[in-house]
Amino acid sequence: MGSYFNPEIETMPVEEIKKLQSERLKEQVRHVYDNVEFYRERMNDMGVKPEDINGIEDLHKLPFITKDDLRDQYPYGLLGVDRRDVVRIQSTSGTTGRRVVSFYTEDDIDLWETCCARALVAAGATNKDVVQVCYGYGLFTGGAGLHGGSHKLGSMTLPMSSGNTDRQIQFMQDLQSTVLCCTPSYAAYLGESIAERGVLDSLHLKAGIFGAEAWTEEMRHNIEKALNIKAYDIYGLTEISGPGVSFECEEQAGMHINEDHFIAEIINPVTGEVLPEGEKGELVFTCITKKAFPLLRYRTRDICVLSRKKCSCGRTHIRMSKPLGRSDDMMVVKGVNVFPSQIEAVLLKNGYEANYQLVVDRVNNSDTIACDVEWLPNNPPKNADEQARREKKLVSDLKGMLGILVKVNLVAPKTVPRSEGKAVRVIDNRKLYEDSKIGK
Ligand SMILES: [Zn+2]
Repeated sequence: MGSYFNPEIETMPVEEIKKLQSERLKEQVRHVYDNVEFYRERMNDMGVKPEDINGIEDLHKLPFITKDDLRDQYPYGLLGVDRRDVVRIQSTSGTTGRRVVSFYTEDDIDLWETCCARALVAAGATNKDVVQVCYGYGLFTGGAGLHGGSHKLGSMTLPMSSGNTDRQIQFMQDLQSTVLCCTPSYAAYLGESIAERGVLDSLHLKAGIFGAEAWTEEMRHNIEKALNIKAYDIYGLTEISGPGVSFECEEQAGMHINEDHFIAEIINPVTGEVLPEGEKGELVFTCITKKAFPLLRYRTRDICVLSRKKCSCGRTHIRMSKPLGRSDDMMVVKGVNVFPSQIEAVLLKNGYEANYQLVVDRVNNSDTIACDVEWLPNNPPKNADEQARREKKLVSDLKGMLGILVKVNLVAPKTVPRSEGKAVRVIDNRKLYEDSKIGK
């Protein structure tokens, strides 16, 4: 059994968690109906009133909200409290389309930081630790979230922000940092820089909390080795407060969702139907305690699996898998959901890089899928036999992962067409047929 930041909540029996969620949901629905015109109109359109929601069993009656809705309501359309009660805003980077701006009351900040403090404790941190936060500070939620969590825990908090690797390593040595918080790609970069300088033995790191990006188990293994730490995943979205919506415990097998603040559902991304526990689908969150920016049934577009299997850490909160892909990237081939990220996982496991191209087609009314994979420049197949053997191995592993036959061709480096330096991953020729049908 581990230690907890809020033991009474984190180990609460499941039935009690559900009861707590039901009570808070009822209150929250009343709050948004009374205070946010957008929700009032949506619910009225669907013929749902707050009194129709008596617990989590009624959640499915509520409308979904999407990122497009957030953009349409920018900036103040979804604000659930008087502006005087807002003490903070954070924002997404806004690389595609309009920014998403999220608002916080004092209590909203408190619950967010509590969630981050739970994540730190789950990674073994206490008030004796020195927590080096090298997520970006500012509008981005990464720095503020982990900083607040570390402060709440009473750890010594180093607000390094991102970049300036020399200074990061210097402080890490001088102040004997024990916990590192940053993106997994920066952790990997720090690992390389530390190896170049040959200073790993002078460090005191024991754990790292890495999020805000997708990363693989291979990457985890490499980071753990390079920094001599245990590496923990953390998940969150600016729209749903920031990092700490869920986090890994010492089991490193899925992330516990803070169920006293968030209700998670998995839906079929095409039909919106709620799927039973254990099925793969789009993750949807309902915030039941946040007041300033209270999203109900927010579609994250992340494809995940939920599990209520008992965890050896003693936490009872439901676990979510790492996002397995984005619902916008999902293809249905031969009736099976296929995500490019699944293909990538198989390639990385077999020692290739993610330089590949999938071609999906339809032949005699049946789907076909083929994958060109570049071999690494330092590891070309020696002859045709070896090439065939290596292709067969990938076909077999892909079949194991996806359950369908993928034709694999190993090709020379730089063969797969690039767009802005990145391989063009998917060509779906079936769309041509569908588009031409529409054209006629
Ligand atoms: Zn656990």
